[in-house]
Amino acid sequence: MNPQNPPVTTLTGIGFQTANRLEKLGIRTILDLIFHLPHRYEDRTRICPIGSLAAGMTALICGKVEFTDILPRGRKSLICRISDGTGSISLRFFHFTASQHHALKPDTWLMAFAEARYGFSDLEMVHPEYTVIAHRDLAMPDSCLTPVYPLTEGLTQNTIRKVVKQALSWCGQNGSMLTDWMPPSILQHYGYPNLIEAIQTLHAPDESVSIEALQNGSVPALKRLAFEELLAHHLTLRRVKAKAKVWQAPAFPESKQETDHFLSALAFKLTDAQRRVIAEIEADCRENHPMMRLVQGDVGSGKTVVAAYTALLAITAGYQVALMVPTELLAEQHYRNFCAWFAGFQTQVILLTGQTKGKAREAVLQALADGSAGIVMGTHALFQESVVFHKLGLIIIDEQHRFGVHQRLALREKAQHLSLRPHQLVMTATPIPRTLAMLQYSDLDISIIDELPPGRKPIVTSVIPAERRADVINRINHWVDKKRQAYWVCTLIEESETLQCQAAEKTAGLLMQSLPDVRVALIHGRMKPSEKEAVMQAFKQHQLDLLVATTVIEVGVDVPNAGLMIIENPERLGLSQLHQLRGRVGRGEGDSYCLLMYQSPLSDTARQRLGILRDSNDGFLIAEKDLQLRGPGDVMGTRQTGQMQFKIADLARDAALLEAIQQVSDCFFTEHPHAIQPICERWLAGASIYSEV
Ligand code: ADP
Ligand code: MG
Repeated sequence: MNPQNPPVTTLTGIGFQTANRLEKLGIRTILDLIFHLPHRYEDRTRICPIGSLAAGMTALICGKVEFTDILPRGRKSLICRISDGTGSISLRFFHFTASQHHALKPDTWLMAFAEARYGFSDLEMVHPEYTVIAHRDLAMPDSCLTPVYPLTEGLTQNTIRKVVKQALSWCGQNGSMLTDWMPPSILQHYGYPNLIEAIQTLHAPDESVSIEALQNGSVPALKRLAFEELLAHHLTLRRVKAKAKVWQAPAFPESKQETDHFLSALAFKLTDAQRRVIAEIEADCRENHPMMRLVQGDVGSGKTVVAAYTALLAITAGYQVALMVPTELLAEQHYRNFCAWFAGFQTQVILLTGQTKGKAREAVLQALADGSAGIVMGTHALFQESVVFHKLGLIIIDEQHRFGVHQRLALREKAQHLSLRPHQLVMTATPIPRTLAMLQYSDLDISIIDELPPGRKPIVTSVIPAERRADVINRINHWVDKKRQAYWVCTLIEESETLQCQAAEKTAGLLMQSLPDVRVALIHGRMKPSEKEAVMQAFKQHQLDLLVATTVIEVGVDVPNAGLMIIENPERLGLSQLHQLRGRVGRGEGDSYCLLMYQSPLSDTARQRLGILRDSNDGFLIAEKDLQLRGPGDVMGTRQTGQMQFKIADLARDAALLEAIQQVSDCFFTEHPHAIQPICERWLAGASIYSEV
């Protein structure tokens, strides 16, 4: 137990049962209670004249009972009519007791609070909260807004309000618990209140705070807490980085002969951007501390060859390389590329996925354990416990946006016991706006490949309604006549892969009917890997013209002759994901097109979003705009945001706060280093993902 932050049971009146219920809300300690903020507020500070009520208004009223009756009509209910001279209203109870009926006798004064709605004949309040008072003059409205907390079964608002109040006064007596670690100069600069004030305001806002400001997150009190929490996440990752930087890692010496040989065997010349990023990587790997570098580069910018070059540095130095990718399709594609690139080198490249079974799997595990395999690529199967490396020197993660912070850190743990930690290279095609990278990748150094290989013509994107399907199908015919290939991507809003696959099957069937001269095939996530592989190979070798697919083809697929992509229902996807999908075309010399075929009618935002995609091929710009229009969830992908658990911050609401994080964080490191640890503790204690901290 942390004496600074004891369990809730320390408070009087919290027994085993209440503690259990609180636990369901993730509340274990007094601090948890303090940071369990209301999700909305009710205004009981004013008594509203009954005559001025309208349907939909939630209000506090005070009136005298005219009559109370049990109505047998419909569902049996107790009706109590009250009036205040300006008007009258019925209070309706479906659940009631005889004593309640008796207590609501005529001429009794009541205060009631609920939403007014239209009932059978007139305005009524259903199951209002109410209290009997001796007289109108004794009606006491609340002095501050009433907090409404997120609840769980068995827990009432009253209970939680009481325990939060207790927690607040406990903190009042044990001041050190809420030590404000934010330096006054920073608070002053941003106009934030101090910690205790902020917490008081949010649990018991006084009359100076408007309910709207509380609700939309614009009150400084809320901003301050959200900011502190985001900062804590950022600081935590920065500490991970600082700590990891002192680990020992194998230094890879310069190996000019091998790298020259590798480069001269390539079918193309590296772009300047690729060369610059490679130089950054080489400098990292020459150190005897682990590299932890993120390479961001738009789809098609040529990240794979950068990964291969880095792998070469490792194997030349006598170390093994593990390359992790999110899908088997991509693992196999990389496997083939690497086999070709490393054909002239004395090293064995192997593949390990969930599909590698039995004898084949044993052989792979053996080759990794005895060091005969130099490079292994695979899905997350790579990092199961049974996989033991002989001398792992480099971990590469491709398409990192499909994984989460968790997996990245878990991987690092895999190498914990080694005296020499492997270098790490992380690659992503999802351009993340700078502000978000600050939150998500601050444990990494960042390199950007900001140039596409020469000769790429921009993809021409158009936005068209599904009513023009017949034209689109016609266009495929012409396209295929020109010996080019195409993709047809089916999307569904549901995460359900089964539904996606069914939709794709249906579409493929229809397209086969309407395009008898076109060789159509289907690929989706539910097919056996061997079937998927067969289809992909046939498509690559141009034995197929049109590939109908689900979003499985989002990552990695590389067929330069396929220059036309139709995306159905693009309005359902995030812009960054659409940009990724579209990146499957525009990989060769010829023209390429992307048709976004939407379902009418399109909302204004959706129209605007698709317009951004039509007008730009720049992934970074698209991500920035998407961030402005829809918030970070879409930009980062639900997988990622889902894993970032915040108590108070809400990335959609608080994105603007990220702007200042870097600067404030720098200021902590230089001027307030002693405050870093306690702030991280306060917000992330027990968060297992950061277990290395
Ligand atoms: P991504 O960054 O999306 O992973 P890839 O590594 O798959 O991109 O590269 C896309 C295509 O561009 C591949 O066919 C690759 O061989 C090719 N490529 C990579 N670098 C260059 C270059 N410098 N010049 C020409 N083609 C290149
Ligand atoms: Mg790639």
